[in-house]
Amino acid sequence: MGERSAAIIGGGIGGLAAAVALRRTGWHVTVYEQAPAFTEVGAGISLWPNALHALDRLGLLGEVLSRAEKETAGGAKDRHGRWLTRVTSDELERRFGLPVVVLHRSRLLEALLSALPADVLRPGEQVTDVPEADLVVAADGLRSTVRARFWPGVRPRYAGHTAWRMVTRPLPTLPEGAVVWGRGERFGYAPMPGGTVYCFGTATVPEGGSSGDEHAEVLRRFRSWPEPVPALLDAVAPEAVLRHDLYDLPPLPSFVHGRTVLLGDAAHAMTPSLGQGGCQALEDAVVLADCLTEAGLATRGEPATRGEPATRAGAAAGDRGVAAGLARYDALRRPRTQAIVTRSARLNTIGQIAWPPAAAARDLLVRLVPAAVVLRGMTSVIGFRV
Ligand SMILES: Cc1cc2nc3c(=O)[nH]c(=O)nc-3n(C[C@H](O)[C@H](O)[C@H](O)COP(=O)(O)OP(=O)(O)OC[C@H]3O[C@@H](n4cnc5c(N)ncnc54)[C@H](O)[C@@H]3O)c2cc1C
Repeated sequence: MGERSAAIIGGGIGGLAAAVALRRTGWHVTVYEQAPAFTEVGAGISLWPNALHALDRLGLLGEVLSRAEKETAGGAKDRHGRWLTRVTSDELERRFGLPVVVLHRSRLLEALLSALPADVLRPGEQVTDVPEADLVVAADGLRSTVRARFWPGVRPRYAGHTAWRMVTRPLPTLPEGAVVWGRGERFGYAPMPGGTVYCFGTATVPEGGSSGDEHAEVLRRFRSWPEPVPALLDAVAPEAVLRHDLYDLPPLPSFVHGRTVLLGDAAHAMTPSLGQGGCQALEDAVVLADCLTEAGLATRGEPATRGEPATRAGAAAGDRGVAAGLARYDALRRPRTQAIVTRSARLNTIGQIAWPPAAAARDLLVRLVPAAVVLRGMTSVIGFRV
């Protein structure tokens, strides 16, 4: 059987990771990206041990770690800056084999691109119809056109709040990462390479709003928060502030339609409370390639149907292999990712509590939970190995 072809729609984290994973297992891939270049917005991303294990399977762990900052610790603080819960990265590494790291999104894409030859990449090409290929991977994000075509009723749900993201100028001293929980607002920060710090703020607001000057809006909301928040905001250039409303996806009945498969945010966009959207896209990519390989091998082992010409029999076996591989991918990925979407939404609701007595009760409860229990609760998500 000759090399099989995969058309990948979308060159974000999920699409590029799928391209790397499929190429490593013998697929001929083409990645279509509507933007003129393969790049990402100017903010950071955290990658948890489960994502680093997936990157290891892609042969890219070293490439990513060399571009990332290992977090020393992280956790949640109350609005006075006191720790509610704190976990060190060493503890994470001891339990899960790898730490949590933070890096610039464009550097993550750069690491993924380092494993792909230029001739498989098609920047500036917006896909409007499902391309001809043995396999079509729709990694076209939250507003996936492929998903809208096959599952027209499924629409992103507004999470109830917006997020500002920004990266500081290099700073002489770096804080430990944390998320400060306010009332209907949160502010998080994590050091990145080069002495910069990735920061984000959230606020419960109506969908689709804009303040006209997002830098001023961030200062207005968070400038009076406990240190290091004001110092971090002082190191943010006005043009560095990005604002996006947050969404997730209701559960899809399947990630597969014929030879087309959804991956990453197109399949299971989630709110960022757990920092898992990109991590899950990386897991998807590895599992997809594994499932197709296993099913392909199993199908090729079957005898060709009597009387079928060899090439047609080979193609039919290949199609059966793709169908079986995609069914397995769906069975493995849908329950896991949809459970994480739900869990993320729950944490979101808790983190965004605005009513002061409820926020105070939340803080008290979280403070009472030992860090070991928090870590145990996270094991199914971040302790997962593809
Ligand atoms: C505020 C915020 C913070 C986050 N923090 C984290 C974090 O710390 N850790 C983490 O793991 N995740 C995080 N996430 C989630 C993460 O950003 C996403 O899950 C991840 O980017 C999804 O990658 P993707 O490749 O599936 O989709 P996308 O990144 O959306 O990529 C889709 C690509 O497809 C292209 N495309 C779309 N339509 C077409 C078309 N028709 N033809 C060609 N190209 C097309 C788009 O241009 C885009 O490049 C966060 C998200 C937000 C909003």
